[in-house]
Amino acid sequence: TYNFCSGPATLPTAVLSKAQAELLDWQKMGVSIMEISHRSPEFTAVAKKAEQSLRQLMSIPDDYAVLFMQGGATQQFSGVPMNFFGLCEGKQAGYVDTGIWSRKALDEAGRYVDARLVASSKDSNYTRLPESWALDEKLAYVHYTPNETIGGVEFPHIPDVGDIPLIADMSSTILSRPIDVSKFALIYAGAQKNIGPAGLTLVIVRRDLLDATPHSALPPTMNYRLFDENDSMLNTPPTFGWYLAWLIFDWLIEAGGLTAMGEVNSRKSARLYNYLDASDVYHNPIHPEARSWMNVPFVLKDESRNAAFLKFAEEHGLLNLKGHRSVGGMRASLYNAMPEAGVDALIDVLTKFAES
Ligand code: PLP
Repeated sequence: TYNFCSGPATLPTAVLSKAQAELLDWQKMGVSIMEISHRSPEFTAVAKKAEQSLRQLMSIPDDYAVLFMQGGATQQFSGVPMNFFGLCEGKQAGYVDTGIWSRKALDEAGRYVDARLVASSKDSNYTRLPESWALDEKLAYVHYTPNETIGGVEFPHIPDVGDIPLIADMSSTILSRPIDVSKFALIYAGAQKNIGPAGLTLVIVRRDLLDATPHSALPPTMNYRLFDENDSMLNTPPTFGWYLAWLIFDWLIEAGGLTAMGEVNSRKSARLYNYLDASDVYHNPIHPEARSWMNVPFVLKDESRNAAFLKFAEEHGLLNLKGHRSVGGMRASLYNAMPEAGVDALIDVLTKFAES
C-alpha cells in the first residue's frame, strides 16, 4: 500500500523498522526510549544529536537557535506575535494570504499585534501566488506560508522582502528541498509531515530576536528565550517524537541530504502534474508556477465519480486520497516518505480508472 495522507505523519518504512527494533529495549537499557528520563545523559545525547543532524541537513547558521517545542504550528500562530510583540510596537505585522493556513495565522496574530495583509492571492481563488506586495518601513515582520497544505500552492523561491524580518510556517515543506535559512528571521513547523510524528514543533529563530518582548509577558512554554536557555527541556518534551525526528534526520542525511531529496521530490510531483495536465479525466487547478511539490490536489472532471475513484484507489492499495473537507476532490500528499514508486502506482491507477 501507499499512503497519500496529508498527515499526521507519513514516515519512511526504514525508520519505522529501526524504531520498532529498538522499541522494547533501547540501547540495552531494558526499557524503551519513552521510559527513560528526558534529563538522563542517554536522552540528552539523543536530543543533542537530533539538533546536530538537523543543523547539518539544513545548514543552519550558528547564530540561530533550534527549539524543539510542542503545541503544533497552530501554537506558533500565537507564539510568533507574542514573542515579537516588542518588535511590533508602533509598527505592523505583515501577513501574506495564500490560503487557509496563512489566513489562520493572520487572524490569530490580530489578537496580539496590529496585523495586516501585505499580499493575497484570494482574487485567483488561491490558484496563484500573490502578484503585488505592499511592503513598507512600518512592517515589523512579514509572515508567509511557503506551502499551503490544503490548497496545494507553494512558493518556488523565497520572497524578497528587503530588510524586513521574514517568518515562515514551513509545516508542510520543511526538509523537502534545500532552503537558505539565513534569509529568515524565524521558521516554524509542526513535525508531522516531513519531520516525524505529531507532538513536536520545530522553531528555528535568529538569536538576536529572542528578546523582542519582555519575558514576564510570555507563558513559559511559549517563550523562545527560555526554551533556548534550557536546551528545549524547560518542561517534559515529547521524547519519542524527538527521538524519531533524529532517526528521520539521519535517514535524510544518508539519502544524500536535502539536495538529493529535492531532486526526488521535484521528479515525483512533475511526473504527477504532467500526467494530470495531459488527462481529459482529471484536473489540477493550480497555476504551474505555484504548484506544490508536497500536496497535489486534483479533481475528476466528472465529480459524480469521486466516491467510485476513492474506492477503486483503495482497492488498489492507494490510501487516503480524499481531499480536505473544506475543498473536496482529491489530494495526493507526496511527503519525503513517499517513494517514487508510489507516484508511479498512483499514475497507473489513475490511468486504469480513466479507462474503466
Ligand atoms: N500550517 C500548515 C501549513 C499546516 O499544514 C498545518 C497542518 O496541517 C498547520 C499549520 C497546523 O498545524 P498543527 O495541527 O500542528 O497545529
